[in-house]
Amino acid sequence: MIVAPRDDVAVHAPDPAAAEPLMSSGTPHLYAGVVEGTGVVGPFVLPGETGCAGCLHESRTDRDPTWPRLVAQWRSGRQRQVRPCDLTLATTVAGLAAAHALAFLDGRVPTTAGARWEVSLPALHWHARPVLAHPACPCAAAERGKGEHLSEDGESEETMAVQRPSAQCREAATERPAGTWRAHV
Ligand SMILES: [Zn+2]
Repeated sequence: MIVAPRDDVAVHAPDPAAAEPLMSSGTPHLYAGVVEGTGVVGPFVLPGETGCAGCLHESRTDRDPTWPRLVAQWRSGRQRQVRPCDLTLATTVAGLAAAHALAFLDGRVPTTAGARWEVSLPALHWHARPVLAHPACPCAAAERGKGEHLSEDGESEETMAVQRPSAQCREAATERPAGTWRAHV
């Protein structure tokens, strides 16, 4: 499943509570979005295996103890208008998100697992920032270590490429054999 919110705060600081249904159901999901001149792709989350929105939040809190307060203030603000974003940047992010999702559907673990790619205008600087599993996160990915959970079944699932500019997500439900991740994109 690709999570592509239009809300700036949700792109910059994905809400762990919003991802709870995905985490509890073990649904792999990928964050993507554009805020002003910055596009982000990742992290790709294998629940309980790789760093999630909660891990990202905890890591940021480690670096800046005021982070939770800042985010709470942003989220409690007035309804924000959806601002226009750069079309080519949005297209780039959409393409990358689709490529990472397809890599997963093809049985690979995309490089956004445990990382967040960011690209910034105007010079299109690229950074890959780690999103490490955090011991304080209830997802327990930190305890299980790095996941290499994907089987080598190599089965090609239904392919798709969708990245929608809304908080809604599309499911193209394809089930992998038992013991492997279900693929929802
Ligand atoms: Zn986590």
